[in-house]
Amino acid sequence: MGTTKNTIGFQHKASGSNTFQTYDPVADQKLPETFYEATAQEVDEAVHLASQAFQTYSQSSGRSRAAFLRAIAQEMLEMGDGLLDQYVKESGLPRGRAEGERGRTVNQLRLFADLVETDDWRISHKESKKEGAPDLRKLQLPMGPVAVFGASNFPLAFSTAGGDTASALAAGCPVLVKSHPMHAGTGALVAQAITRAAQQTAMPEGVFSNLLSSGIEVGQQLVKHPGVKAIGFTGSHKAGRALYDLAAGRREPIPVFAEMGSVNPVLLSPRSLGARAQEIAEALAGSVTLGAGQFCTNPGIIMGIVGKEWDQFLTQLQTALQQKEAQCMLHPNIKKQFVKEEEKMLGQSTVRAQIERSIKSEGNTILPQLAVVQGSEFISNPALQEEVFGPFTLAVACQNEEELLIAIEHLQGQLTGSLYAESDELGALKSWSLALQKRVGRMIFNEVPTGVDVSAGMHHGGPYPASTDARFTAVGTHAIYRWVRPVCFQNYPEELLPEPLKA
Ligand code: NAP
Repeated sequence: MGTTKNTIGFQHKASGSNTFQTYDPVADQKLPETFYEATAQEVDEAVHLASQAFQTYSQSSGRSRAAFLRAIAQEMLEMGDGLLDQYVKESGLPRGRAEGERGRTVNQLRLFADLVETDDWRISHKESKKEGAPDLRKLQLPMGPVAVFGASNFPLAFSTAGGDTASALAAGCPVLVKSHPMHAGTGALVAQAITRAAQQTAMPEGVFSNLLSSGIEVGQQLVKHPGVKAIGFTGSHKAGRALYDLAAGRREPIPVFAEMGSVNPVLLSPRSLGARAQEIAEALAGSVTLGAGQFCTNPGIIMGIVGKEWDQFLTQLQTALQQKEAQCMLHPNIKKQFVKEEEKMLGQSTVRAQIERSIKSEGNTILPQLAVVQGSEFISNPALQEEVFGPFTLAVACQNEEELLIAIEHLQGQLTGSLYAESDELGALKSWSLALQKRVGRMIFNEVPTGVDVSAGMHHGGPYPASTDARFTAVGTHAIYRWVRPVCFQNYPEELLPEPLKA
C-alpha cells in the first residue's frame, strides 16, 4: 500500500491531510493506494513555479520543445506494463484499449513535436515593406501557464499528457494538470514520465505540475488564480459551464476551452436503409456500445423517416444491441449517473424503450438501451437532447423529409453529425446537409461518429453546448492555437524582432 504525492515542479509534496483512493470498477472495490490532495499553498506554489518557468520556456526554441515532447512519449513507452496495468485497474477498460490509448497519446506528443520543429505554424504574416505601407509582421505567442482538467473517460489521451497538455507544451505554455480523481494513479505515473523528460531535456522547473484532488476546490483555485492564463477541460456540461463562468468572473477573464459532450445525431435516408439496413444497424450498435458508450462522440440520436425500412432497421438495431454483453463502466459514480439520466429519459411520457431487460446489470456493468420518440415530440422538447453518458441511443421517427429537416434545425450544438445516404439521392438531401452544418463541428458521411483521427484535418469541437468556443479543436494539430495569441510587430527593428520574424 503506497502513498502518492503531488508533483510540484520537480518536487513531490503532500503537506495536506486530505486523502482519497481510486476505485477498481471491475472488482468493485477501492484500490489501496492513498493520494494526497494538493493544499491551497501547494497549488499556489505550482502556479508560481509555472509563471517563472514561462519566462524561459516561452522563449525556448520549437526544436527544444519538440525534444521534450518526444522524451515524454519515450518515457511513457518505457513504463511498459506498469502504466497499462494501472490504467486497466483504475478504469475497468480492457487491456487492448489501454494499449491503443497509449499509442494514440504517444503519437499525439510526436505529432506536436513534428509541428513545432519549425516556426511555420506560428508565423501568421511576414512580408517585406510595400511602398507607403507599414511593415507588418505577425507571430503567435504563448499565452502563459495553462490549467488542464484530466477527463474521466480517457485516462491517457485526454488527461495528464493528453492532447491539451501536449498542445499547450508545444505552444510554449507550462501546464498545471488537475488530475482526474478516478485515475489519479495512472495520472501520477504519467506525471513521473513528464518530469523525467523535462529534466533530461533541461526544461525549467515548473514547466509541468500534477495536482491531485477529489473535489472541486483545487480546480476552482486554478481557474481563479491570476497566474493561470487559459483552461483546457473535457467532461460534463455542468462542470465545464461552472468553470467557464468562474473564469469570466475573474478580474482578468481568461479563455476556457471546454469540451462538454454531444449526442452526435446520425441521419438515415430511407434509401440507405432500403439498401443496407442490417449493415447500418450493426455499425451503429457497435458505435453505441464502444467503450461502454463512454465517448463524447457516441451516437446518442438517430433520425429517420417512418416506413417499412425504418421499422425493419429499428428491429435490426434492437437485435444487434440485445446481443451485446454487459460492460463495466469507469466508476460507480458514472454508472449511477447513467442510470439516473436513462431513467429521466425513459420517464418522458413520449419516449418508448425498445429493449426489455430481463437480466439486471450487476456491479458497475450496464446493458445498452434503444428508445424511440416521434419527430414532433423531439422538436418540441429540448430535454430529449440531453446526453445520456453511456450505451444509450434515442431514435427519432420523423413523418417525412420536412419534419426531419425541422428536427435538425432544432438540434443544439454538437461535436459531430453523420449522414447515411446513397450516392444517387445526394441532391435531394442538400437541405439536411446544410442544416446539419450549422449545428456541428464535424460532418461525417456513411460512417459512425466514434473514432477520432488525430491529424491536421480533424475538428473536435462544435457550437455551444458541445464546446465553449466552436472555432477551436481539442484534437489534431490545430489544437495548439487555443494556447497562443497573435502579436503584430509594426515597422519593428530587425534586432528586436522575434527570431522567426527576422528577414
Ligand atoms: P465532471 O463531473 O465534468 O468532472 C470533470 C473534472 O472537473 C473533475 O476533475 C472534477 O473534479 C472537476 N469539476 C467538476 N465540477 C467542477 C466545478 N464546479 N468546479 C471545478 N471543478 C469541477 O466529469 P466526470 O467526473 O468525468 O464525469 C461525470 C459526468 O460527466 C459523466 O457521467 C458524463 O455525463 C460527463 N462526461 C462527459 C464526457 C463527454 O465527453 N461527453 C466526458 C467525461 C464525462 P472532481 O471529480 O475532483 O470533483
